[in-house]
Amino acid sequence: MQINDKRNSLVKHANKTYRRRARSEIRNIAIHHSATTSGSAEAFARYHVNQLDWPGVAYHYVINKDGSIDLCHDPEVVSYHVGNSNGRALGICMVGDFRTQTLDAPQRNAALELVKNLINDFNLTVDDVWGHIEFPGYSWKPCPSINMEQFRSSLREAGSPTSSPINNIPSQPSPRQIISRGDRGDDVKTIQQKLADLGFNPGPIDGIFGPLTVDAVERFQRSARIGVDGVVGPETRSALENYEATTDPVEHGAPSDEPDQREEQYLGEQRRMLRLIRPMMRGEDVIQVQEKVGALIDGVYGPATERSVMAFQRRNNLTVDGIVGPLTWRALDATNGNVPVYERILSLQTPMMRGDDVRHVQQALNVQVDGIFGPNTERAVREFQRQAGITVDGIVGPQTWNRLF
Ligand SMILES: [Zn+2]
Repeated sequence: MQINDKRNSLVKHANKTYRRRARSEIRNIAIHHSATTSGSAEAFARYHVNQLDWPGVAYHYVINKDGSIDLCHDPEVVSYHVGNSNGRALGICMVGDFRTQTLDAPQRNAALELVKNLINDFNLTVDDVWGHIEFPGYSWKPCPSINMEQFRSSLREAGSPTSSPINNIPSQPSPRQIISRGDRGDDVKTIQQKLADLGFNPGPIDGIFGPLTVDAVERFQRSARIGVDGVVGPETRSALENYEATTDPVEHGAPSDEPDQREEQYLGEQRRMLRLIRPMMRGEDVIQVQEKVGALIDGVYGPATERSVMAFQRRNNLTVDGIVGPLTWRALDATNGNVPVYERILSLQTPMMRGDDVRHVQQALNVQVDGIFGPNTERAVREFQRQAGITVDGIVGPQTWNRLF
């Protein structure tokens, strides 16, 4: 592991300094991406200090695409990167925008090795390694846009310790001591209110233990370092009672890394962000999206829905990430399910076929949009068919059309 010590070379604020903490206060490792396709510790430091007026760079470590690692702060430094959780977290930023880029092996392996070492150094477990989005109050933020469950699995496979299993659950709890998915009632409402008060937004406080509540309970359990199962039993109840509302004051007006003009839009968007995760997201909002993008309507945000969302984003000149965030929600609001209608079989012919339907296909396939069905378009159709697991013939018939739109 190659670590370059940049603690004394990065730009710092002329008269502000980050506060320091005891090493024992470190309870989490936060994983970020820079949300920029390129970058460096130096560039981030300049941005955070010169543009945002922060005491120094946001992160403790920056991992470059080649796998080299830059050390930016002592672990004792409480820098700004996860808002109210800054006091308990070490920040690691991987250079890249993983909404659109892939995390390649050198960088991923460096991240795994660094995190593994930090887990040992600070007496943490794999379950203390969270993506930015998994911190309280950040469920709207697509950072680091990698699959954190997979990342943690890789750490476990590499032999890092996991948290101890749940014990001490009374053997005969009374009926409503345990509530879980599908339950309804005032006690569910009370739990939802409590979760909301603590910053783990469970969606509407409606007394129905649905997927949003499960999600909030799981985020809370992870944060409270208890067993993560999405079920409210005695342990979770007592953790909810005793949870110390994050004592760290918000240390900055916009306590976040990668702040940009979209931040306000994200905060103003009440609907949850939909994306392909495991377990898959379910609900009325998924159905709404499926109706608008012309996907099969089953209320489950699976790979086919993601593909249709990406095609929709492509048609609407949005970032094609398959994530329904505020901008995509807005574009969906503005559409009346403007899915193009199938008219005819499209294929490579002489002379080549032309038309708006060809244009739609090209847009959906992300190839040059000229309205002419040429060899490039045919190749893209074949590639799409291969990925979709349907007959690979380069011809857009009803089946391929429906998959595209
Ligand atoms: Zn982040």
